[in-house]
Amino acid sequence: MFGRAPKRSDNTRYYEILGVSKNVSQDDLKKAYRKAAIKNHPDKGGDPEKFKELAQAYEVLSDPEKREIYDQYGEDALKEGMGGGAAHDPFDIFQSFFGGSPFGGNASSRGRRQRRGDDVIHPLKVPLEDLYNGTSKKLSLSLNVLCSKCKGKGSKSGASMKCPGCQGSGMKVSIRQLGPSMIQQMQHPCNECKGTGETINDKDRCLQCKGEKVVQEKKVLEVVVEKGMQNGQKITFPGEADEAPDCTTGDIVFVLQLKDHPKFKRKGDDLFVEHTLSLTEALCGFHFVLTHLDSRQLLIKSNPGEVVKPDQFKAVNDEGMPMYQRAFMRGKLYIHFTVDFPDSLSPDQRRALESNLPPRSHSRLSEMELDECEETTLYDVNIEEETRRKQQAQAQEAYDEDEDMHGGGGAQRVQCAQQ
Ligand SMILES: [Zn+2]
Ligand SMILES: [Zn+2]
Repeated sequence: MFGRAPKRSDNTRYYEILGVSKNVSQDDLKKAYRKAAIKNHPDKGGDPEKFKELAQAYEVLSDPEKREIYDQYGEDALKEGMGGGAAHDPFDIFQSFFGGSPFGGNASSRGRRQRRGDDVIHPLKVPLEDLYNGTSKKLSLSLNVLCSKCKGKGSKSGASMKCPGCQGSGMKVSIRQLGPSMIQQMQHPCNECKGTGETINDKDRCLQCKGEKVVQEKKVLEVVVEKGMQNGQKITFPGEADEAPDCTTGDIVFVLQLKDHPKFKRKGDDLFVEHTLSLTEALCGFHFVLTHLDSRQLLIKSNPGEVVKPDQFKAVNDEGMPMYQRAFMRGKLYIHFTVDFPDSLSPDQRRALESNLPPRSHSRLSEMELDECEETTLYDVNIEEETRRKQQAQAQEAYDEDEDMHGGGGAQRVQCAQQ
């Protein structure tokens, strides 16, 4: 290992830097480094040179192999590469010791990418009136903010320790025996530190946040719903979500959810309404008042002499939804007409109608022609109900066949085929 007999050099300075005796235990060495490193951290206004020396001294003395070389041959021997090369970045040593940073954002942002906090997503139910007229709503949310007392450190001193439960990794591995030669390895967040990798000394815990680093606060946001916004549209408040140490804060996102309207349906920029006319209105004309989404009263009327047929659509231009960010433009308002026919007519009504309506399309059949026909009777049916029932029966049949193909019905099929 040694090319030449190394000369002895200073082998007490590292102990002096950390303020410990030559026979210090690893535990006491750790404690000494923690105290001194926090006190001298440049982010806390400490001397960078002193901080670097502390890290160097701790790096050597905490490694049994390096410590032995140091004790025997001194600092120069290590500098000559015997103990594993050049000294590391003091900030890296500091961070690996604490398993993260005890100083919140400052220390860890040094050359490192910050994690991004989760977005907070809230559905926001809105009536159609709000999307038509536009509105603003004040909403109050309970959110985490960094504790003002400890500046998000969780402790009074600003220090934290590597979690003993997971060695600072935040994860724990448990092994389960599944069989004689089979084990299952499972990784789960450490329960002692809730996956953060660090713990805070009970006595050092911040009283305001109880070591949680964050406290809940009520935030009031004004959500502006603009005219013409769509169902599912997002309104975003960037960087307003829950704060967490060492994290860029995520966004609060409100997702508009349109409530059903009893009268109007929206399709894109158009509005649809249903209207039922009596047969007399459909034939002889109608007018009615439609209260719009902004409470205006629209007079809807037929053109003189016009007949409206069942299932017919008519439209009013520019009375649909305002277009998003072009609210001066509007879609159409469509009216879908249903005609309510009378169930029966009296003989007088029939005669009066027949004398006024256009003649029947077919002339009456002769006695002889009638004699050659078979009599039938017309019954009332619910065609939707009947169609649905037939489709169900068909689906059941297809399922049964499928069962026969794949299930145990093979013998039965053969039997059937032989018959
Ligand atoms: Zn842990
Ligand atoms: Zn606190």
